[in-house]
Amino acid sequence: MGTWNRYFCKKCPYEAFVSGGNDVGMAAATSTVRCYDCQEIKDVVTTEEPWLAMAKDWVPAEFYCDKSKAHRTELWNHPRKCPKCDRSMIADKDFSPIMWD
Ligand SMILES: [Zn+2]
Ligand SMILES: [Zn+2]
Repeated sequence: MGTWNRYFCKKCPYEAFVSGGNDVGMAAATSTVRCYDCQEIKDVVTTEEPWLAMAKDWVPAEFYCDKSKAHRTELWNHPRKCPKCDRSMIADKDFSPIMWD
C-alpha cells in the first residue's frame, strides 16, 4: 500500500504530494526523486516487480524522470531540499496521507 504525504518548502510556495522515499504498491514500486530539469520532486516507478522493493535495504537500481530519460534525477532523501530554491522541505504533520494503491 503506497501513501502520499504533503511536503512544503519553508522558504517558497512550492509544495508536493509524494511518498517521500521508497514506496510499494500492488503493481509497482516507486521512489521519490528530484528532477533538476523539471525542478520538481515526483514519485517515479522504480520496478514493476514491487516485491523486490520490500527488502529492507533495497535501493532502486535505476529511475528516470517521467518526462524524459535524459533528465538529471537523484533520489530525494536526506536532506530533503526544495527543487526550486534549495531550502529544506518539511512534511506537513497535519496532512492525512493519501492511499494511492
Ligand atoms: Zn523552495
Ligand atoms: Zn524531469
